[in-house]
Amino acid sequence: MNALAATSRNFKQAAKLLGLDSKLEKSLLIPFREIKVECTIPKDDGTLASFVGFRVQHDNARGPMKGGIRYHHEVDPDEVNALAQLMTWKTAVANIPYGGAKGGIGCSPGELSISELERLTRVFTQKLHDCIGIHTDVPAPDMGTNSQTMAWILDEYSKFHGYSPAVVTGKPVDLGGSLGRDAATGRGVLFATEALLAEYGKSTSDQRFVIQGFGNVGSWAAQLISEAGGKVIAVSDVTGAVKNCNGLDIPKLVEHSMENRGVKGFSGGDALDPKLLLTEDCDVLVPAALGGVIKRENANDIRAKFIIEAANHPTDPEADEILSKKGVLILPDIFANSGGVTVSYFEWVQVLFAVQIGSTLNSLAWFITDLTSRALQQHKNIQGFMWDEEKVNFELKTYMTRGFKDVKEMCKTHNCNLRMGAFTLGVNRVARATVLRGWEA
Ligand code: GLU
Repeated sequence: MNALAATSRNFKQAAKLLGLDSKLEKSLLIPFREIKVECTIPKDDGTLASFVGFRVQHDNARGPMKGGIRYHHEVDPDEVNALAQLMTWKTAVANIPYGGAKGGIGCSPGELSISELERLTRVFTQKLHDCIGIHTDVPAPDMGTNSQTMAWILDEYSKFHGYSPAVVTGKPVDLGGSLGRDAATGRGVLFATEALLAEYGKSTSDQRFVIQGFGNVGSWAAQLISEAGGKVIAVSDVTGAVKNCNGLDIPKLVEHSMENRGVKGFSGGDALDPKLLLTEDCDVLVPAALGGVIKRENANDIRAKFIIEAANHPTDPEADEILSKKGVLILPDIFANSGGVTVSYFEWVQVLFAVQIGSTLNSLAWFITDLTSRALQQHKNIQGFMWDEEKVNFELKTYMTRGFKDVKEMCKTHNCNLRMGAFTLGVNRVARATVLRGWEA
């Protein structure tokens, strides 16, 4: 089943549990706006190359639309649509004042030079700038993009609209990005895992973990889980897979992966066929790569007792049913990986506050002495209003812990599994906001 069909099926099940009006249900499902653009750039060798870019803005009932931009060769309109919809439910589950959106460009970022990536990002932004904005739609990194990509978007957008640091999140810290944003999705995965395990009288330190994907999310999750005492026994990425039953040395694996652009060839473990990774014997399986990897064909062979969905949409609904019959507990994506967008919200708030205070101080400076004016000007430096990393992580833990409680509450109310608990929570919050704002006029 493709990502859009699967996501919509989960949504419809939740709408049924909530008893939503059928017109409202339809209106919540249909995206607000779908954008498709052609991005043509000169390559370094002088030839021209064309790429198709998308931005799907799904819903804005609870606030500006929010979601990452993905650079990957498999990006297609249906997938972007599904991921945008998931962002709407995810921001609602996290209870942050955003809607949902997602973007992507069908390209292989590893095959493009840095200057080609910069040109591509700038052309994409030129075509998109009228549709995004601080209070309309705020992009962030996703698979294949990072803080540098966000810096280029910020710069290109600012050429049209004036300096706008809050138009993207996941920026470099030097441009008003938040400390802790880079690790946030992985850290959120740890907090979510801890909350789930505690329900069953278990803790991270007595569990064996298998992690699929060693990009930003997978590698941070692996580092933080192993720092918390969890045994990470197998890891994979596009280059291969490694296994060590005594636990992999994650800091060394991170170093190896940075030097060799992948986990393949790591001497601290045995090579493993990446296709067998998901069905390895372990307690907790963490898919942290692409969508649709757990499906009917492999669900029966999965041996983990818990699955933490660090990736978006890693489990097909057919696999969901098989796993639930086997008694495997799945912590769904729209809660488990919401740490990234939650810290994006912290970043956005910090920057908006700093800009606001900065301009207020600027106006005040006209009325006071030169000396005081200079002191105030120094304070205008936005870094003065940024949270330290400890505060970011503490707030993130508060949001994740509360989110888990809210999801469990919905499970009780609707007598359903964790996925439906999270979906009913998110869909209900968006439905309430939609009705309050008035949608039928
Ligand atoms: N791309 C991340 C996600 O899928 C983060 C989105 C954001 O921070 O806006 O949740």
